[in-house]
Amino acid sequence: DVSTWLQYTVTHYGEGERLMVVRDVTRLHNLEQMRKDFVANVSHELRTPLTVVVGYLETMQDSEEPINPRWKRPLHQMQQQASRMQSLLNDLLMLARLETGDEVTEETAVDIDLMLIGIRRDAQALSGERNHQITLDAASKTRLRGSEMELRSAFSNLVFNAVKYTPDNGEIHIRWWQDDKGAHLSVADNGTGIAAQHIHRLTERFYRVDSSRSTNTGGTGLGLAIVKHVLLRHQGKLDIVSAPDKGSTFICHFPAARLV
Ligand code: ADP
Repeated sequence: DVSTWLQYTVTHYGEGERLMVVRDVTRLHNLEQMRKDFVANVSHELRTPLTVVVGYLETMQDSEEPINPRWKRPLHQMQQQASRMQSLLNDLLMLARLETGDEVTEETAVDIDLMLIGIRRDAQALSGERNHQITLDAASKTRLRGSEMELRSAFSNLVFNAVKYTPDNGEIHIRWWQDDKGAHLSVADNGTGIAAQHIHRLTERFYRVDSSRSTNTGGTGLGLAIVKHVLLRHQGKLDIVSAPDKGSTFICHFPAARLV
């Protein structure tokens, strides 16, 4: 639909003189579009075969017939890796969808209080015997206009990350509030924290501070990229405050115009 993409910069040289540089970025733009389409297509095509593999692995494990003990461990590992692959594909697809089109299409007035109650409960289940203390402070009367599915995905990513990167018995605090600037959601933990040099790169795809730890916790490396895109689509902004060994706070800001 758009055949040419131009980028330009203007430099002023004193009185009345200026230099304008125009760059044709059509090729770059088309390549980027091809990359996005390719990722979306591949992820979509791989989902079905993987569902079959996971299905059979589950059937084998649940089977009444005795399994050769030698196969118990490999089977368990195959199932774990296959479900990791499923999460990765789901996140890739989600990200591909978020990257195409800047506008949120299915907007409703989302009850964030209610959503957070559910997310807190799921996070407590994820924590299980690791016994995190997860508290929630959300009692607003207002709702946020946006995509329920996207917002849920973004907020869950932040809260589940807090569980993943906070040692056993750690504390996690979720807060949702409004002021004259807009609405804000913060997720604070007293976990491993993040060194300053990593913070500005965290929302890049597949960026990880410590890839071995992240792989152990089952992360895909796409969570914060998803958060960033969801916020962009809702005219929101993400702030990250963190210090190693002290903990991290992730804050999402939404403009007042999104409140209903
Ligand atoms: P992952 O799937 O690896 O968790 P994310 O995009 O969600 O990917 O996060 C990127 C990286 O940011 C993580 O690998 C981790 O190093 C760091 N990170 C995210 N959340 C936290 C947190 N609450 N505490 C410490 N580190 C975090």
